[in-house]
Order: sequence, then C-alpha cells, then structure tokens
Amino acid sequence: RRAPPAKPPVKTGHELSVKDKKNEDFGQWYQQTITKSELVEYYNVSGCYILRPYGYSIWERIQEELNQKIKERGVKNAYFPLLVNEADLAKEESHIEGFKKEVAYLQKDLDKSQTPVEEESEDVVQETEQTEQTEQTEQTEQENQDAELDREARQNSQIEEAKEPQNLNRIALRPSSEAIFYPAYAKWIRSYRDLPLKLNQWANIVRWEFTDATPFIRSREFLWQEGHTAHASNEEADKFALEMNDVYSEIYEDLLAIPTVKGVKSPGETFGGAERTYTNELFVDANGKGIQGATSHFLGENFSKIFDIKYEDDKNNIKNVAQTCWGFTTRSIGAMVMIHGDDKGLILPPRIAEHQVVIVPIYKTEEQKEKIFAKINEITDELERRKVRVHVDDQENRSPGWKFNHWEQKGVPLRMEVGPKDLEKEVVTIAIRHSGEKYEFDANRLRILIPRELKKIHNQMLRNARRVMKAHTRRARTFTTVMNNVKKGNRVLAPWSECPESEKEIQEASVTNILNLRKRLVNKGELSPEDLNKEVGKVKVLCIPDEQPPMPEGQMCIKSKKPAKRWALFGKSY
Ligand code: AMP
Repeated sequence: RRAPPAKPPVKTGHELSVKDKKNEDFGQWYQQTITKSELVEYYNVSGCYILRPYGYSIWERIQEELNQKIKERGVKNAYFPLLVNEADLAKEESHIEGFKKEVAYLQKDLDKSQTPVEEESEDVVQETEQTEQTEQTEQTEQENQDAELDREARQNSQIEEAKEPQNLNRIALRPSSEAIFYPAYAKWIRSYRDLPLKLNQWANIVRWEFTDATPFIRSREFLWQEGHTAHASNEEADKFALEMNDVYSEIYEDLLAIPTVKGVKSPGETFGGAERTYTNELFVDANGKGIQGATSHFLGENFSKIFDIKYEDDKNNIKNVAQTCWGFTTRSIGAMVMIHGDDKGLILPPRIAEHQVVIVPIYKTEEQKEKIFAKINEITDELERRKVRVHVDDQENRSPGWKFNHWEQKGVPLRMEVGPKDLEKEVVTIAIRHSGEKYEFDANRLRILIPRELKKIHNQMLRNARRVMKAHTRRARTFTTVMNNVKKGNRVLAPWSECPESEKEIQEASVTNILNLRKRLVNKGELSPEDLNKEVGKVKVLCIPDEQPPMPEGQMCIKSKKPAKRWALFGKSY
C-alpha cells in the first residue's frame, strides 16, 4: 500500500492552456483565449455570451473612463426602455432599412383586449386624485406657457398629429435607440434655451446578427453606451459628433493601447438616417481584418424632421434641431484580445487590467515563507498607496510554475517573483507579459519603479501595435494591386471617386477575384474543394481617413471611370 501524499497534489496546468497558435488557427485561438482566461462563457442561445467577472471588470474600467469623458462634455446619463414600437422604428426609412434583418421582435399577442388591467382600490384612486390636484396647481403656470409655445410651434410648422392608426404594431427590442429617445426629445425641446440637449445611456442592445457571431466582436446582445444630442445648428452638432469620435480614439489609445485610423465612412457604410458617420478603424494583423472600433454619427435634421423635434430660436423662428448619436460597445474588448494576444493567450494593457501586478511568492521552508510574506505585505501596501492594482497569489497547492502559466494566460501585464535569493540581494524579479522580458528591480524602490514600468508597458504595446498597423497599410493605384495586397493580409489606401455604384462594384469584384484565386489553388491541389468558399470575405471601403496623402493630379478612381476624390482605405473587415 502506498502512503497518502503529505501535501495536496500540485495540479499541472497543461489541460488549461491555450493550445492553438494565433497565426495557425486564429478562430480556435481566439475562442480558447477568451474562455481559458475566463473573460466569457459560452451560452446556449447562439450569438449570446456570459461576461464573466474577469471580462466584466474590463468593461467596468472602460465605463469609468468613458463615463467621465462623456460627463465632462456636459452629457447627462439617463435610462430609456428596451422595447420600441415598430411604427416608431420605421419612421425613418433608411434607419429601419439599415437594421431590417437584425431587428428582433417580441412574440407576444399585443391585442389590447388581452392585456390584463390591474384594478385599483378606491383608496388608492382617491389618494392619487388628491396628489394630482396639488401637483396640478403648482404646474399650471409652467404648463400654460409650454402649451402656448407648443401650439405656436405646431401652427408654424403646420404639422398635423398623425390620425391614421398605425398597422405596424409589433414591439421590437432596441437595435439602437433613436426611435426611443427622439419622441421624448420632441416633448422636451421647445425653445433655444433647451439646447443643447445631451443625454447618454449605458444599456444592452439586441441585433439579431445572422453571420459570423464572434464573442464581443459581433454578438446578438451586447453592452454599450449610446449618446444622443440635439443642437441649435448643424455646425455645432457636426463638431460634437467629431469630438466624440476623438474621445473614442482616446479610449482606444490611452486605455486599450490600440491605435485607430480616424475617418469618415463611405456612403454605403454610413449609419441609416445619418448625414455622416465618423469612425475609428482598427486592424488585426493575425488575419488581416479590420474592425470598426466605434462610430459617431452626425444626423443633421433627418431625424428631427421625422420625429418633429423643433425649437423656437431667439428671433421667434421655429426650426428643426440638428442631432448626433454615438456608441462604444463591448466589441472593444474583443479587439483588444485579438490585437494584443499571443500564443500563450491574453495580454492586457496595464490601464485595463484587473490585476496590474501579480506577486508570486517562492519558498520552501516555513521560515522563508514568513520572511517573504513580510516583504510582500510591505510591497503591496506601498504599491496600493500608489494606486497600483496588486494581487498576491498565495495559493498553497499550486506550484510557482503553474502560477506563472496561469497569470500569463490571463494576460497580467507584470509578474513579480519574490524568493529567498531575491530577499538576500534586496531585489525582486520582474517578468513582463507582452515582451517576455525578465529583470531585477531594487526591492526598496518599487513604489517608483513599478508605476513607471506600467506606463512604459502601455507605451510599448501601443507603439508595437501602431508599427504593425503601419507595416500592413499599403498604397495602390489600381484595383488589381489593391486585391493583391489585401490577399497578403494588408489594408490598402487607394484613390476613389466616392460614387456609391463603384462601392458595390468593388465589393462584388473583390469576391470574384478572391474566388478565382481559390479555384486556382483547388486545381493545383493546394486547397481542398470544401474550403473553396471559406473565408472569402468581400473587400470594403473601411473609411476615408482624415490623414490624406497628396492626390496626384488627374488621378482616376480604382474602379469607376471617374476622377478620384480622396484616398480611401480598403480591406476586409469583421
Ligand atoms: P452603430 O449604432 O451601428 O453605429 O454601431 C455602433 C458600434 O457598435 C459600431 O461602430 C461597432 O463598433 C459596434 N457594433 C455593431 N454591431 C455590433 C455587434 N453585433 N456586437 C458588438 N458590437 C457591435
């Protein structure tokens, strides 16, 4: 008979680690990275995922930072309902057209006769009446003034109340909340004194995506903030939409260490009902795909005309408000995983990481343990005072090697090892997740060295990602060279006429072009026939970047027979 083990067995971490290589099977690698690092759990409704605490903490950090920036710009938070009448959603035709396939409806009989009505007791009714009377007296004066303005506004604009009963009577889950916010804006905005009106909500969104559900990147329910502002002039609204696009780029660069290409969307990619869509485009080098990181829309007066959002200016003219809306979603977390991660799994930029530093104690004897923990407590206090988020992995039944693997896979930016030899030399050993570097730090200067190191890690990660993005951005002046470069995993700047017909032609021609190449590979036996249609993906206009190279005189568009207007960024995208 064997003796029972003296200590609990040390668990090995092999079955826990990410097996697929990022550059070999990107899809599998991504799936393993996000589940094994405990960001998400899969769920049995397709396209929906559970955001686990480790993943949700990233979203909370984004919320903190973005919420502050939003509030600094005079925007207030509110909450609007999840459900929307189809009739309201359909008011702006291009808006509903943009969401046509993705809107999910409630399957519930909405016939009023079947809606249960709660009986109120007499007492309650009386009480309500009394309260209402008091409130009414107080409000009468204000209401009279408002009603007068309202009447005038309606007379001046000659807008009739819709008398026709709507036959679009389904209830939808919000795919975005323009049709939920704007009827309320029409009630609240009367005079120039009510402007600008700037509201935001943190909410969930449902878009019934049918292709390529990818956790974070394209899910059927996702979390976001959506801001909706109303202004007295188009100029002011447009400026605000641009400012919010800049805020999004700051969140990407300053928090997530991800560089963005800022620009404006092509006509075909502009948000339904918007005049212009400003965008932050990201790039994943492992598969050469772009990601639309976040967008901000200048809506002009398109929605205010339809939802009847009018105000009286200081010269008594009745005008439509100019509007913006803008949204930042949990997609950003997926982009961060894809852009920074490596074969070992997740790599978190320090400003977003739940644990910026994980300390792993190394000891054999009880005496060593005592000394090491005394030092670790000292270090932890010091670092926490400096607002560094530190975690001490003091699990007894895990080996240091297991812990190294575990925290590497979870992407902790900096690991600190404290062992007996380190104590003797008055140093600690530091391991940097993104670079794999290891060095010693003076154990008595950590309060200065660690914050400095975290800053350095952020800057290096951003710089590396920018270098990679730049190296994969090519320039071309014919459609064929654009395609050749995209096939090599690049994005391409090319001269474009900006006409909507050529946008469609480019997408169609790109699919044919890629399919032809794949057919040749099948004929040569280098690709299996079953894989012919896999990953074909059309090439799109990702944006027209703000930063424009000079355009040669007389330069023609890569597709249409028209002169080029600006350089557009072409590539594949999620
Ligand atoms: P939109 O309201 O269509 O402009 O969307 C706002 C932003 O949401 C886009 O710029 C994307 O970054 C993001 N987004 C769109 N669809 C999804 C989705 N299915 N899952 C996660 N994020 C999304």
